[in-house]
Amino acid sequence: MKYLSTRDKTLRFCAAEAIQMGLSRDGGLFTPECFPVLGQEEVQALCGMDYRQRTAFVMGKFLDDFSQEELLEFAEFAYSGAKYDHPAAAPLRQVGGRTYCLELWHGPTSAFKDMALQMLPQLLSASLRKTGEQRTACILVATSGDTGKAAMEGFADVPQTKILVFYPEHGVSEIQKIQMVTQEGENVGVCAVEGNFDDAQSGVKRIFSDEAIREELSGRGYFLSSANSINWGRILPQVVYYVSAYCDLLNEGAVKPGEQVNYCVPTGNFGNILACYYARKMGIPVGKLICASNRNDVLTDFIRTGVYDRNRPFHTTMSPSMDILISSNLERLLFDLSGGDDALVRGYMEELGRTGRYEISAEMREKLQELFYGGFCGEEDTKSTIAAVYADGYLIDTHTAVAAKVLEDYRRETGDGRAAVFASTASPYKFCDSVLDAIGETPAADSLDRLDQLQSVSGVETPARLAALRGKAVRFDAVAKKEDMEQVVLRFLR
Ligand SMILES: *Cc1c(COP(=O)(O)O)cnc(C)c1O
Repeated sequence: MKYLSTRDKTLRFCAAEAIQMGLSRDGGLFTPECFPVLGQEEVQALCGMDYRQRTAFVMGKFLDDFSQEELLEFAEFAYSGAKYDHPAAAPLRQVGGRTYCLELWHGPTSAFKDMALQMLPQLLSASLRKTGEQRTACILVATSGDTGKAAMEGFADVPQTKILVFYPEHGVSEIQKIQMVTQEGENVGVCAVEGNFDDAQSGVKRIFSDEAIREELSGRGYFLSSANSINWGRILPQVVYYVSAYCDLLNEGAVKPGEQVNYCVPTGNFGNILACYYARKMGIPVGKLICASNRNDVLTDFIRTGVYDRNRPFHTTMSPSMDILISSNLERLLFDLSGGDDALVRGYMEELGRTGRYEISAEMREKLQELFYGGFCGEEDTKSTIAAVYADGYLIDTHTAVAAKVLEDYRRETGDGRAAVFASTASPYKFCDSVLDAIGETPAADSLDRLDQLQSVSGVETPARLAALRGKAVRFDAVAKKEDMEQVVLRFLR
């Protein structure tokens, strides 16, 4: 199967090349040329498999340059008991009559990013072998918290790779910072940047587009690559858990074969919900795709009006991983809704770059609204939802609360009674202070003490890897000015 750039369909690559490059050189995102549809019997077969086997099966449909044995080996490593604290990796939990929560945070860093970032390094390593690339891939990451840690955990000590993470000095939570600066592995590096996330992100983009640096690094035996959700190797592993959740519902007798289920996803960069849309394209009976935003409601407006407009205030919220005004992966949806019209997509993206705004055609808007519902949840509602769900016996984090609330709003507004799954994207322990506050506790002064506090209040066990942060040595304390990021990269890749 070939992968095409959303901005120029004549740029076609095999999966290994697409994964290795990350982003197409015209700025477009690699998208599969077609979507294999799972037959009734295949879904039946998937129901009898465990999560690792389901992964190999679903990914194999798209990665025909990888063998089933290879993919199963990757999945067994990525979602092994050593890394995942739940045998099902992505278990489904019933939280109401026809409501289920898909827990995606049982991996090593307690956020859903692990589902993809435990798999991507293996896909990338194998891609290097397949394409005969001799140089070492250096993954550069700018992170607002979750991606950096999950990427390092995935790439730590993976041969022929190095990873360097930049985070805004004061822009991540205490727990996230401790997670990053104590990261182990011979091939990892972490550096704080004086400034905010945008400064770190712009610095990384600048380095990526600096020909002189690329050439210098190539002479030293390195090339730069990306672990952001623009990489196809991050989207594909996420398609699996939506397929898997449907199989679990069938196995439990919660739905009959072919019966539709709505999915509600807390959304930032549009990667996670796009994966759900792709599961639908593969024939999984997904009803409504419910796109949940926090106060940064650019996607809600887009789905309701067909106008994407990033010219609005940026809000810092208690669900920081969704504080985003440009949802990169939306480009892949536009490509699909337009029937693969690369010129149209290129035009929208040019307009977005120039004016911060574009409006899709009426025809595309109709398709969009048929498939998607958009809603948002403010800070007070996030808190009260955590409290309400906790009172019912389930502790959720701030991002998950946004999804739970928007699902509730959707149901009330439409009366849609179909079974529904909402995605839970982080462990409540990752956002301890907001969660403690929401359930009426005053957070302890020290951030690691808050883990114990939440455990003793809620009776829910702290994820072992977070509890283990206490004894860990700080390995990285460098802070760089944003204009010195190039030098940090050049020193790291000596
Ligand atoms: C990254 C992230 C999101 C947003 O996912 P996208 O794929 O960017 O839409 C939601 N919740 C958490 C906890 C995250 O880390």
